[in-house]
Amino acid sequence: MSTTPTTEKEATSSQAVPAYSARAYAAASPTSPLAQATIRRREPRPQDVQIQILYCGICHSDLHTARNEWKSVMPTEYPCVPGHEIVGRVVKTGSAVKKFKEGDLAAVGCLVDSCRSCPQCREGLEQFCDLGAIFTYNAPDKFLGGVTLGGYSDSIVVDEAFVLRVSDKQNLAGVAPLLCAGITTYSPLRHWKVGKGQKVGVVGLGGLGHMGIKLASAFGAHVVLFTTSANKTADAMRLGASEVVLSKNEAEMQKHASSFDFILDTVSAEHDLNAYLNLLKRDGTMTLLGAPENPTLVSAFSLIFRRRQLAGSLIGGIKETQEMLDFCADHEITADIELIPIQKINEAYERLLKSDVKYRFVIDMASLK
Ligand code: NAP
Ligand code: ZN
Ligand code: ZN
Repeated sequence: MSTTPTTEKEATSSQAVPAYSARAYAAASPTSPLAQATIRRREPRPQDVQIQILYCGICHSDLHTARNEWKSVMPTEYPCVPGHEIVGRVVKTGSAVKKFKEGDLAAVGCLVDSCRSCPQCREGLEQFCDLGAIFTYNAPDKFLGGVTLGGYSDSIVVDEAFVLRVSDKQNLAGVAPLLCAGITTYSPLRHWKVGKGQKVGVVGLGGLGHMGIKLASAFGAHVVLFTTSANKTADAMRLGASEVVLSKNEAEMQKHASSFDFILDTVSAEHDLNAYLNLLKRDGTMTLLGAPENPTLVSAFSLIFRRRQLAGSLIGGIKETQEMLDFCADHEITADIELIPIQKINEAYERLLKSDVKYRFVIDMASLK
């Protein structure tokens, strides 16, 4: 292994892993806007795939992380390069790679590694790895030191076991958000067996919410959107909802009391969970996907009277992510996106905070020069 840095190849002083330079957008602190930066990526090992990133979606988790809003659970290390909805083209493969060759389309979601041998990993639930899943950004990088750096970049290197296959028949920019918003909604809908004959609520119409509507309606459920934004009603119906409820209108909420089999809560900010728990029928389940900065109060009465359940779900494992991508390809499902150049990223973050996105921002990486 070479330890002599050259203009093209560098080496870490700590571990002497060969590396190259890539362009990226990074946050230097919780309060600084994202700005262009040069980062290091490891040269592909035998089992690695090097991907030229074409598109990367902007998830609200990117914003939570860039601004260190999850400091009590997962403090952010800076510089931070967010981005875990990655679609691109394979430019190099290691000698042992079997699934990919140069020129193939490929995708990377929220996970880039895990222990692969604990019970969770063996069940294909790498996101719950007992030794700690290695997320695409802000997780320990055992090769280069520091933390993993995400997809707001022109290049990434990932073990092929964590790289997904993508159909060449779909709009690639619209596929990118499936890698987080898609799998994060697909997985709980499958786990709780949502389908025909069920009344399903989706709370919040953003990136996750709009995929939740598309997927729950594709599975045959009767979907009701709860929104704080009256101007999203027509879009919700177009996306597959059968009804829209303005959650600030108590009379409208009351009409749905104790009637839902399942509710997916995708809200990114503090809000009253009890108002939604009260809409579940006996034995109904509400699953939290949204991860607001601060905890929320749950009244025992919201749960005990009808034996209701409050649950949570975290993204999905690699096998299920591939299953979801294949399902979306078969059913011609992609995200509804606003394509932006990377220079507009800080503006996009401000719009996310105002619930003003239709319905996922995706970065056109050709803009990163
Ligand atoms: P997003 O696009 O910003 O959508 C969030 C939506 O929540 C908004 O569009 C808005 O919908 C609603 N909302 C926002 N502020 C609200 C408030 N104060 N009160 C009520 N509703 C509000 O975000 P996203 O990318 O879909 O992510 C949503 C959340 O899920 C984030 O917290 C993110 O970190 C988390 N997440 C979790 C996982 C997981 O594995 N569990 C994976 C990805 C993301 P309306 O305008 O319709 O009200
Ligand atoms: Zn995400
Ligand atoms: Zn594991």
